[in-house]
Amino acid sequence: MNALRGDLHVHTCLSPCADDDLTPVTAVGLAKLAGADVVAVTDHNSARSLPAAKAAADAYGILLLPGIEVNCAEEIHLLCYFADVDTALRFGDALYDALPAFPYDPAVWGRQLVTDENEEITGEVEKLLTGAVTLTLSETAQLCRSMGGIPVPAHADADSYSLFSVLGGWPMDVDFDLYEVKFPERAEKLIRAGLLPGGKPLLTNSDAHCADAVASRMSELGEGNPLLRLLR
Ligand SMILES: [Zn+2]
Ligand SMILES: [Zn+2]
Repeated sequence: MNALRGDLHVHTCLSPCADDDLTPVTAVGLAKLAGADVVAVTDHNSARSLPAAKAAADAYGILLLPGIEVNCAEEIHLLCYFADVDTALRFGDALYDALPAFPYDPAVWGRQLVTDENEEITGEVEKLLTGAVTLTLSETAQLCRSMGGIPVPAHADADSYSLFSVLGGWPMDVDFDLYEVKFPERAEKLIRAGLLPGGKPLLTNSDAHCADAVASRMSELGEGNPLLRLLR
């Protein structure tokens, strides 16, 4: 497979912090319009936008990489990617069981809309999805891998919810084959300082929470990128 280009970190109306009009169908369509070969829908702690995203991807002729952005117990965000939607949904069910039943008010936090391939609202999620699950970074990575998935630290150099902000750098108890960075120049400095590892593939994605941001940044999946295994 040749190198693929795409936005591998996009939220939808399922995430309370994302715009309600950013349905999975819209997100996938905007990525296609921007010329992406592949798009990953990665909502907080839930896979429930993925069935509609998959239907849209098949209709529009773009690859979908099914994903979830897990908020691990340490409050570190970990992108977990899977080969198919059903596996991501099963992983999402395990995360939901591991989410605290925090008193959640949509008026305060934002709605968590489940929508179908026609962009109709079919449900709302009850537990607040942006909370931290009880699984640690290491446990989440292990569960993801046990289901054939690939865990990727999100925005590893960012000022919040990141390896750098929480741990000060790369973890001691778990390794990853690649990671996402938010600020490439800062990430380069952290790599030179030995706080993040060099020599691994890096992703740079939009982390879009609104329609305008979808595909505003894209990653290149070159030869040997581990994520290509999930797209074959
Ligand atoms: Zn994040
Ligand atoms: Zn995100």
